[in-house]
Order: sequence, then structure tokens, then C-alpha cells
Amino acid sequence: MNFNITFELKKLIKSKIIETSNSCMEWQGARSPSGYGEIKIQGKKYNTHRVVYRIVCGVFDYSLWVLHKCDNPPCCNPDHLFLGTRSDNMKDCFKKGRLTHIYNKRPTQTAQKNHMAKLSKSRINFIRKHYKPRDEKFGATALGKRFNVSKGRICDVVHNRTYIITPS
Ligand SMILES: [Zn+2]
Repeated sequence: MNFNITFELKKLIKSKIIETSNSCMEWQGARSPSGYGEIKIQGKKYNTHRVVYRIVCGVFDYSLWVLHKCDNPPCCNPDHLFLGTRSDNMKDCFKKGRLTHIYNKRPTQTAQKNHMAKLSKSRINFIRKHYKPRDEKFGATALGKRFNVSKGRICDVVHNRTYIITPS
């Protein structure tokens, strides 16, 4: 987020935001597939709500996520935005039911638990340490066979991706 906050930038953002119901301020420009506003500043692409947060609230820890209280991805109303971690975002998604449809497609809770139980912390560490893409011994397929889980589960572990979520 190393851009200059110029008068022109603020003017451009203002011109592309309209206030909708529930006092959301929706970005009317480009959007990401998940609905977040996108803006190019000095040649780099940013999420608009993060840019607005940066302008209004000042420099923040950019490793954090800017989350929506209103659950409206294109909204840039600083009053609707708050900082959180990736896991805060997941909890937030759950609370608002955004992940429910994904979860409904998953196995029942008991099955899910057993599925998770197959991979203890030490196995997860082992996988993360030794994984080599397409390797005969340490590729996803080989590791999946070794620990009796699916190839996809190995990929999830390697990429630190237990749930499907969209960034905000
Ligand atoms: Zn909003």
C-alpha cells in the first residue's frame, strides 16, 4: 500500500462511490470475482475498501484483513470496516452464514471430525515440511496414500487451506 494519497486519488474514489441503503458506500468501478472493489493506483491493483481504510484511518498492519461489518464486499464506508486476521474473517463468515453453503456440501460433522483426526499436528507438520509437488515419495498422491487421506486434503494442508473463503 505504498502509494501517494493525492487530491486526485481521493476525488477519483469519491466520484465512483454511491451511498446505498443501510448507509453502505458501494464502489461502482471494477470488481473482483468475489465482489470487492478494485482500483489501480500508480500501476498497482488494490482492493478499494483497503485503500479507503488506509486513507481514512492511516497506516495499518497490511498483513491484516480489512473486514466488512455490513457483509457487503463493494462497500467502502469506513464506519463499516474493521481490521482482523484471516481467522477473524473466517469466524465472521461463519457468523454471517457466508460459509454455510460450502459447509452443507461437506460430510457430516462426525465424518468431518474423523477426517480431520487422520491428520494429527505432527503429520501436518511432516506434510508441510516434506511435500514436493509431483514427487514420487513426497507428492500429494504419495503423501495421501501414506496417511490414508485424499490428495486434495494434502493440498489443503500444504496450502494452509482448510476452508474456502474469499478475502475482504
Ligand atoms: Zn457497508
